[in-house]
Amino acid sequence: MTASGQTVQDIKTDYDAIVIGAGIAGLYQLYKLRELGLNVRVFEAGTGVGGTWYWNRYPGARFDSESYSYAYSFSQELLDEWDWSEHFASQPEILRYLQHVANKFDLLKDIQFSSDVKSAIYDEHSRTWEIALENGSKYRTRFLIAGIGLLSQPTMPKIEGIASFQGPSFHTSRWPHEPVDFSNKKVAVIGTGASGIQAIQEICKDVGQLTVFQRRPNWSAPLNNDKINPEEMGKIRSGYDDMFDLCNQTQAGFLHTVDPRSTFEVTEKERYEFWEHLYAGRGFGIWMGNFKDVATDPKANKLMSDFLADKIRSRVNDPDVAEKLIPKDHGFGTRRVPMETKYFEAYNQDNVELVDINENPIEQITPSGIVTQEKDFEFDFIIYATGFNAILGSYDRINIEGTNGQKLRDQWKQELSSFLGIQINNFPNLFMILGPHALLGNNPRSIEYNVEWITTLIDFMRERGLTRAEATPEAVDSWYNYVVEQGEGLLSNQIDSWMTGVNSNLEGRQKRILARYSGSQASYRERCDEVASNSYAELNLL
Ligand code: NAP
Repeated sequence: MTASGQTVQDIKTDYDAIVIGAGIAGLYQLYKLRELGLNVRVFEAGTGVGGTWYWNRYPGARFDSESYSYAYSFSQELLDEWDWSEHFASQPEILRYLQHVANKFDLLKDIQFSSDVKSAIYDEHSRTWEIALENGSKYRTRFLIAGIGLLSQPTMPKIEGIASFQGPSFHTSRWPHEPVDFSNKKVAVIGTGASGIQAIQEICKDVGQLTVFQRRPNWSAPLNNDKINPEEMGKIRSGYDDMFDLCNQTQAGFLHTVDPRSTFEVTEKERYEFWEHLYAGRGFGIWMGNFKDVATDPKANKLMSDFLADKIRSRVNDPDVAEKLIPKDHGFGTRRVPMETKYFEAYNQDNVELVDINENPIEQITPSGIVTQEKDFEFDFIIYATGFNAILGSYDRINIEGTNGQKLRDQWKQELSSFLGIQINNFPNLFMILGPHALLGNNPRSIEYNVEWITTLIDFMRERGLTRAEATPEAVDSWYNYVVEQGEGLLSNQIDSWMTGVNSNLEGRQKRILARYSGSQASYRERCDEVASNSYAELNLL
């Protein structure tokens, strides 16, 4: 009962639930909450649906996971009617798919575009959230769900003179909506992560001169993409049930299963035959389907890395360039493996140059190009493939205040923690889809799981007239310990990358943190299911 004699349930809100983001997560969350009969609004900063696949329009952007395994599984009708044209679909096709989903399920009427959420303030008295948009409008809701992505806030390098460049320049994830013509143009790309590699191997096909500024190379492996013909699509379609069952059982939700053998229990001949087989195979097989110890045993990892180094040497004509493209500071798979298609061969073109900025640092950007220690380069375009304020950035940019005015960004500065990657103590009725310490991997699989978990909880609360859900500090601590325990021994947690929260372009983000849950999908889901089946005893439900 409130001071005015109203019950909390009677308090009027604009919406039962507000969802932030109309990407894969937000669209499905809207669909599920509508099924419960809730009045839902989605606020989306972009002008259309798609999230990641709306923003990342750079040439060459495509799935690195098999299209059919990286899409929604929830609707048989959708599975039956949608044909994928390639094993690894390109961004335009993925965006068409997500637009189709939005139209098919009549989602657009509840989505408000060009609506950037500026703040979200919790009010204990009414147990509601007040959401303010950049344009000043405000809305009240009982439940707030963040589907804001873990790689959605781009970061730019801090280089002197960066704003002075006169030509067009853009970050890969803020690409113009109009086609960009690079033919006969001088183009710079800074950054060689998954985005840079996809863009470089595409831009090099029709460009005057392409110069790549590389700080650290990555272990990149062939995507081995192919078209899907109608007969093959028919087979994929008839195997969907088994395929999704398989995805639900693998370590990170992909089609590829860790090989139960260790690198050293097979003969040398068997080992290299297996690695050749993986190198010729599709997608993440080489990363996710490798011998079980490649991810944990430095000796096994070194052998695998040496195998790939030789592949790079065999594909790049200039031995000096090949050596620059071989990572020396981390082993294979310890950072997210970018998938490539003739990426290394790009450096065999006369009009493609690799600049190792460790040897020849960038000094400044000028109105006409980039000045390095050794040379002045003139460019028509500069492309920043310099990554994201990963995991935290999409939350930090919104002023989120929970109980007693506690700011989320301050709480997470002390220590990044959550419960199941879904809830946070001091932030009642706020739910995250793929928040910090949730399971990453095959993200649409994890998204569907998170969305269904959140929906079931909201349904549980509504059936019982409950209006407030908050993870207890004990539950958050216990999840933190579980995340630590599950990540033990993984080489990837001992290397600087966005997966360990490191970003050289951001203040205070030079040290590794525990940023993600890196255990198996099975152990993640088991724990989440247990919480639900114990009637959410680890949440404070009122
Ligand atoms: P990223 O992996 O963080 O790579 C950023 C690149 O920019 C790195 O090479 C980095 O060098 C370089 N860089 C950053 N700041 C720099 C500076 N100040 N000076 C020079 N170089 C600088 O970012 P990303 O390539 O955008 O990929 C991020 C993640 O997005 C991927 O790992 C993946 O999970 C996802 N992604 C997915 C797909 C897909 O599924 N198809 C495609 C693209 C991206 P250092 O390595 O030295 O820091």
